[in-house]
Amino acid sequence: MRHIFPSYAYGPEPKAHCWWDETCLIPQFSSLAADDTASIAIIGGGFTGLNAAYHLAKAGKDVVVLDANEIGWGASGRNGGFCCLGGGTASDALLDLRFGKQDRLHYRATEKRAVSYVDDLIQTLGLDVDRHSNGETALAHRAKDMNHLLASAEQIEENYGVVPQYTSQDDMAAQGLSGPFFGAMTTPIGFALNPRKYLLGLATVARDAGARIFENADVVKVERTANMWVLDVGNFQLKADKVIVATNGYSSETVPDWLAGRYMPTQSNVIVTRPISDQEQAEQGWTSAQMAFDTRNLLHYFRLLPDGRFLFGMRGGLTASARSDLRSMQAALRDFRKMFPAWSQVDITHNWSGMVSVARSQLPFVGQVPDAENMFAGLSFHGNGVAMGSYVGKLLSQLVMNDDAVSRPLAMSDPPAQFPFGAARRVIMPAVYAGLAILDF
Ligand SMILES: Cc1cc2nc3c(=O)[nH]c(=O)nc-3n(C[C@H](O)[C@H](O)[C@H](O)COP(=O)(O)OP(=O)(O)OC[C@H]3O[C@@H](n4cnc5c(N)ncnc54)[C@H](O)[C@@H]3O)c2cc1C
Repeated sequence: MRHIFPSYAYGPEPKAHCWWDETCLIPQFSSLAADDTASIAIIGGGFTGLNAAYHLAKAGKDVVVLDANEIGWGASGRNGGFCCLGGGTASDALLDLRFGKQDRLHYRATEKRAVSYVDDLIQTLGLDVDRHSNGETALAHRAKDMNHLLASAEQIEENYGVVPQYTSQDDMAAQGLSGPFFGAMTTPIGFALNPRKYLLGLATVARDAGARIFENADVVKVERTANMWVLDVGNFQLKADKVIVATNGYSSETVPDWLAGRYMPTQSNVIVTRPISDQEQAEQGWTSAQMAFDTRNLLHYFRLLPDGRFLFGMRGGLTASARSDLRSMQAALRDFRKMFPAWSQVDITHNWSGMVSVARSQLPFVGQVPDAENMFAGLSFHGNGVAMGSYVGKLLSQLVMNDDAVSRPLAMSDPPAQFPFGAARRVIMPAVYAGLAILDF
């Protein structure tokens, strides 16, 4: 198996100080201890893989989930918990140009459906996920960004059928949103959750529905024989009729070979403070329970957690090493203190990093792997996979079962194209980040 980041990114260190790990225990699952068979094998036990497993098992299918680490070890167990719109970064203009307006509206409706899918799931299954925030709030980084937010109202209404609410700069303090912002726009779709508790719920219901889940099950090779897939998992083999690849930012160039060059792992980085008292919150003027982000291209995302801790995230480093993680943590700390100066002395108790995946098309993919009978994949959620990854998991289960009800926009069905430079494609990222940083001035 060949990864394109240094091995550090795929090891335990980047996740060693993740706050979510302290908030609830996930049941441990056994390792594969013998050759086995399944009707459907799912590679990757994050939101995508577990949602697919849950629906398949509920429908009575013989399904096995294999994760190289423990369940939720990837981005699903270490994200910011924003269950929000997104999944791609393609603009409306690009979508219209490539797929037409009707498909663009289908795609935008799918983003919205992904959020309600998670919402319904949580409610139906009665999952306790420390939920808060009514929609998501965008904070204008510059005065002109507020004008852009105001101008986007019509587009938001057309795409999502909702009317955003605006807060002028003068009213920010009254909303508990004080900071170096030029106003805000809240889109009333989405909510925040504890991703670890959501994972716990998913793993439990998938297992209870009959999915067999194996940890420390690193799939090193996938091969097609005459009529089935053979997955090499260390000393053992799993034979399956169908395979789902749900490895997102932790994908490799070889499992399966088709993925080579078709995803770009990029890092995101999070810091979490100790609980900030009500008085300290009032001193800073940030008391809102809204999940929020600023309008920079290289954006910051943040929210007050229900216990008063503050979670603050931003893009991670371009290389993966202990040194690079330290630099990213210092950059996040610097930006956090600049934005919230009254909290300069507040301790940071946790910090971690993880990998997301972006696609050349700027769109997520869900579908059949070309020229690979009975192999399906769902990936590249562009840092917004809590809702979209979950929903793609459900779509994958429908595709596997040939369910006529499956409804996918063309924008998500187009197989991802390869980036230039093959396994060395990360070389383009410094230029991309530098360009985005310049646009943020
Ligand atoms: C720091 C950070 C913050 C984020 N914040 C948010 C947020 O607030 N909101 C949001 O919507 N999204 C956020 N995201 C993105 C979101 O977490 C991901 O899009 C989503 O979790 C992807 O889920 P997944 O199941 O597809 O992949 P992952 O959760 O990454 O799971 C992939 C799994 O595949 C396994 N795997 C890989 N290769 C193999 C193999 N060969 N054999 C077996 N197993 C394998 C890995 O061990 C891993 O567990 C964030 C991501 C990060 C890193």
